[in-house]
Amino acid sequence: MARCPCGARGSAFGAVALAASLPGFAIGVHVRHSGGQDGLQGTVTEAPLGTVDVQYKILEPSEMPIEVYHTNLGKQEYFENCLLRYTQVVEDYADKQLQALALEALDLEAASEDFRNASLWEGRHKERIGKLSNWFYNKYFSWLSGRTCGQCNVQMTSGGEHVVPTQDELEHGAHRVRLFKCPTCPNVSRFPRYKSLKKLLETRTGLCGEFARVFGLFLAALGYEYRLVLDWTDHVWNEVLIDSRWETVDTTCPGYNFKHILRWHMPVVYIVAFGAHEVLDVTARYATNWADVEARRGKDGNFDPKVAKQLIHEADERVRELRGETEPPQWRAQEAKDLDAMRLPGKL
Ligand SMILES: [Zn+2]
Repeated sequence: MARCPCGARGSAFGAVALAASLPGFAIGVHVRHSGGQDGLQGTVTEAPLGTVDVQYKILEPSEMPIEVYHTNLGKQEYFENCLLRYTQVVEDYADKQLQALALEALDLEAASEDFRNASLWEGRHKERIGKLSNWFYNKYFSWLSGRTCGQCNVQMTSGGEHVVPTQDELEHGAHRVRLFKCPTCPNVSRFPRYKSLKKLLETRTGLCGEFARVFGLFLAALGYEYRLVLDWTDHVWNEVLIDSRWETVDTTCPGYNFKHILRWHMPVVYIVAFGAHEVLDVTARYATNWADVEARRGKDGNFDPKVAKQLIHEADERVRELRGETEPPQWRAQEAKDLDAMRLPGKL
C-alpha cells in the first residue's frame, strides 16, 4: 500500500493538469452514482448502486478552494489561510464533548491496553504514546486506499480530481471532495475531506491530515500537551510533550515516531507547530540543512520570509490572547534556544 504522501501528490498533480488540458473535460456530466460503495464507516446509507443519477462537476484547478496545495504554495494568502485553519483545529481539541467521544472510542476499541488509566503509565509515557499510535494505525483509522466498483469488482481510480461538495459534506467542513472513478463503467465514489472532528470519529478514514487531526484529539483527551505540525510541502503529523521535550508522532508511519526526521526528504520551506498555547516555526528541527531552507524561502515565487515570520508571530500571540494567557508557555525559552542551535548548515 502506497502511504507516502508526496507520491500520492505527484500522481494527483499530473491528473489535474491533464484534466485541465482536455477541452470539455471539466464540465458537468451525468453519471451513475455508486452509492454505498465507498466503504466508509458511519456514513449515511445512500440509494442502491445504479439507481440514482447525480450531477457532479469536476473542478478546474483555478476553481479549487484555496487550501489545494499545488496551485497556492508560496502565496501569502494561502499561508495565512493555513495558519488560521490549523489554529481552529487545535482550538477544537479543547471541546470536552469531543474529548469524551475520543475516550469512548478508546474504551470500545482498545481492549488490550488500558490507555485511559494514567497511573498505569507512570514514567512510561513514550511507551504509552507509541502503543497508542500503533493501535491508531493498525486498528482504529484507515488509510484512504483504492476503492472497488461494486458493479464491476475492479479497483476504482482517483486521478486527483475534486468535485463540488454537497450541502451535507459542507456542513461537516468538507470543502474538497475527491472523486474515484470506475475504469470500465460510469460509477463514481466520492471522498469528502471532512474537517469536523466529530465526523472524522465516525468515518475513521483519511490521509495524513485526517490521521493527525484525530490523533491530536486523543492526545488532548488523555491530558497531554499536544501540537499539530504542518509541513507546507504536504504532510501533517503530531507532537506530544514528554519529559519537557516535544516528541514527534506520525500515525501514518509509527516506525518514525520519536525521530525528528522527514522520511521522504522533501525540500522543506516551512514547518509550523500549532498547540494549545502557541504557534511556532519548528522547521529547523526537521530540516537537514538550514542554509538550503533559507535559500528556498523567498525564492521561486515564495513571499517575503520576513512577512511569514511576522504572520507566525501574530498567530502565536493570537492563540494566547484567545485563552487569556499573557506569557509564552514555560517550555518556550528552552525550545527557542534549541531551535536556534539547529539553524546550522549541514546539520546531519
Ligand atoms: Zn464499474
